[in-house]
Amino acid sequence: MTKIIRKVTYKLYPSDSQEESLMDMLIHHHQLYNWALRDRIETYRQFHYGLSFSEQCKINTLWRSNRKQHRLLNANAQSEQVTLKRVSLAFEGFFRRLEQGDRKAGFPRFKPFQRFKGWGYKTHGDGWKLHLKEKKHGAVYLANVGIVKIRGKARNEGGIPKTAEVIRKNGEWLLSVSMEYPSIERKSGTKGIGVDWGVSHYLSTVDHDGHFEQVANPRYLSQSRERMTKLQRDLALVRKGTRHHRKLKYQLAKLHQKIARQRLDFTHKETAKLVKIAALISTEKLTVKNMTRSAKGTADKHGKMVKQKAGLNREILNTAPAMTINFLKYKAEETGIEWVMVPTQKVKPSQTCPDCGVKKKKTLAERWHSCPCGCEKPRDVASAQVNLNWALGLAVKAGNQPEKVA
Ligand SMILES: [Zn+2]
Repeated sequence: MTKIIRKVTYKLYPSDSQEESLMDMLIHHHQLYNWALRDRIETYRQFHYGLSFSEQCKINTLWRSNRKQHRLLNANAQSEQVTLKRVSLAFEGFFRRLEQGDRKAGFPRFKPFQRFKGWGYKTHGDGWKLHLKEKKHGAVYLANVGIVKIRGKARNEGGIPKTAEVIRKNGEWLLSVSMEYPSIERKSGTKGIGVDWGVSHYLSTVDHDGHFEQVANPRYLSQSRERMTKLQRDLALVRKGTRHHRKLKYQLAKLHQKIARQRLDFTHKETAKLVKIAALISTEKLTVKNMTRSAKGTADKHGKMVKQKAGLNREILNTAPAMTINFLKYKAEETGIEWVMVPTQKVKPSQTCPDCGVKKKKTLAERWHSCPCGCEKPRDVASAQVNLNWALGLAVKAGNQPEKVA
């Protein structure tokens, strides 16, 4: 049985003194990161020798044994190794890019404190321990900090916590836990389903009996978009470096977070619904072209601030297809549903008639598929059906096309 790892994020609710301790930890790991980086650079300068991860761990152990003398925080040893590993990974990435001939390989840099995100733990029970309760909110024990209240819920019960990261983001503390699940039980269905998405709807699906469904774009997007447009406009008018500017930037960051959470939730729900009824799912491969569809699509409905709105659409909507595909794919795999990716270039789902196979280009403004053969459908439903036909091997061969009606 394959094991499945999922990240679950909890929000920490530290008391004032715990907040201080968390800050001390962040400062400690930030210093450790930059010290380890400087150690590597200095050692190379003086001895032309590159320190390895395990050597840095040994050096750190020596420091740890004299920590009182050096006035160092008595932080969890494994979590320090995680930070040292991050330095090591930064160098590995640099050398790999260099080898690939990337001239702008970017030497690992010292991190300013504002950009230092947090620290991690390797083993559950070593420096951290989760205490989750059913229904009620739980808590996490963090060494040097204490027992901190948390909020958040794993999507699947019965996960075993493995590793964790404490992250500081927009003034909040988050705990991201990697949970291991022996297997996630999902029930699949019996239907063959073709999927497509576009501007007018979030998702269009059609099953092998020809029933189709269109899922509307989530409403939270239009609400958030208005607020975001306003915040961005306000921000542009305020002088940088002022308190007001900082406040607006913070509000904007919070809004981004909120949208991300809502999007995650929405995508989970919609993909789970499909997986429940499907035995086969067929969809288009994502290309740059259909990724930017939604932004361009606003062109047929000119309004105020089209450019800004298009930019926001790109930001808000365009991550949706990619995320939806990813979620659908892993859920299909977990359930044992057949997963088919249709080659867009070859099949051209948006230009092909699902009934007779005739290919005819549509402009982005054309939201309806209307074919001389009598096929009348919403555009996205038609391409969803082409995707399904291809997967089911029913694609009408070019030679079988009926004669065009003049
Ligand atoms: Zn047709």
